[in-house]
Amino acid sequence: MIQKQKGTYDMQGEMVEKYNYLKRIFQDLMNEYNIKYIDTPIFESSDLYHRGVGETTDIVTKETYDFKDRGDRNITLRPEGTAGIVRSVIENKLYTTLPIKLWYEGPMFRYERPQSGRYRQFRQAGVEIFGDPTPLMDANVISIMVKFYERIGLRGIKVRINSIGNKESRENYRNALLEHFKPYLNDLCEDCQNRYEKNPLRILDCKVDSDKECMNTAPKIVDYLDEKSKKHFDDVLKYLDLMDIKYKIDDKLVRGLDYYTDTVFEVEAEIEGFGSQNVIGAGGRYNNLVENMDGPSVPAVGFAFGIERIINALDAEDVKVISDNSLDCYVIPVSENELENAVMLVNNLRDNAFSVDMDYTNKKMPAKFKEADRYNAKFIIIIGEEEVKNNKLTIKDNLTKEEVKVERDNLIDYLDVNI
Ligand code: AMP
Repeated sequence: MIQKQKGTYDMQGEMVEKYNYLKRIFQDLMNEYNIKYIDTPIFESSDLYHRGVGETTDIVTKETYDFKDRGDRNITLRPEGTAGIVRSVIENKLYTTLPIKLWYEGPMFRYERPQSGRYRQFRQAGVEIFGDPTPLMDANVISIMVKFYERIGLRGIKVRINSIGNKESRENYRNALLEHFKPYLNDLCEDCQNRYEKNPLRILDCKVDSDKECMNTAPKIVDYLDEKSKKHFDDVLKYLDLMDIKYKIDDKLVRGLDYYTDTVFEVEAEIEGFGSQNVIGAGGRYNNLVENMDGPSVPAVGFAFGIERIINALDAEDVKVISDNSLDCYVIPVSENELENAVMLVNNLRDNAFSVDMDYTNKKMPAKFKEADRYNAKFIIIIGEEEVKNNKLTIKDNLTKEEVKVERDNLIDYLDVNI
């Protein structure tokens, strides 16, 4: 038997309800904030991610799904959403009218070691705002995220925030880190020894080495920020305070992607027993990415969150997802003689926007009633010989089990009032 690939899952059953619930709330929120939907391809040229996400990142060095297509092109399945959207903004010249506010949702692919909350195909939703350099927009973007978690009913969340400054500050900071970690190099894990060469900032968010003394004594980025970055960060915090958003400054937060500048943030689920994959959303400002990808100089800020981890968090907090998966009507023809009548009725009800199903086979009556229960039908409409003759229908309320006879011509009105 062929089975699903490692690190993938089938979205079915209850998970579909939860996914639809999250998507609905997110969509409504996006409307309220005047943010427009964008959908970019799932595969892009590999160069896009090498340049967009960064050569030295874990994602690009170890985690991309790369393949050559039949035309010998180097293709990568998207590991995240930002690079593709930046490409689209440049290619479609969306930057001619700024600001532009976009959201997306869809599958991402990373060849990671699968575990709970970490998949090889997972879904992210996110927001990208182009052309607004203000600290107020950083705070606004964080507020959208926090509002989303509130709306879905998640209580235990913690926002961590930091600034990694501009390119020059980061270069100075990088040198300071190299100097600091040099004597401890042999004590660090193998990954960190590699990071030392390629991307020493990433040593700071290593999970393996996090408790070591040299981590705590490492220089802090805040001491390397220039005046402009410092002011930007202070203003972001000021606006967050104004919006009454709780956060914690985390000077070790550097994020795994190369494109960030100034503000970076992560949201953690603070739920007992939630597990190690507790970052349920993250983002930051990326003022140089559009230009680095051969576009004009356009500042940007955004975030992404992982759908599966949020569903896990909802489960861990036992949040009940409100979903209406019931069917309005289930139509039961008593015998084959009423089949045509039933087909016409079902068709007419659907045209009137009711959700309807019927039994097309020749099951026995009890089995048909069971079907209606399985679909959670609110009303069962029975058409038998007598009903056809009198042009009346028997309608059974599947909750109260009460039965009434309704004239065929009055059926829509009856359902409108009662559903
Ligand atoms: P990143 O793009 O790495 O900043 O991740 C943003 C969010 O996507 C994380 O906070 C997670 O919620 C989610 N995420 C990242 N990688 C995975 C994965 N392999 N499986 C499930 N969710 C993920």
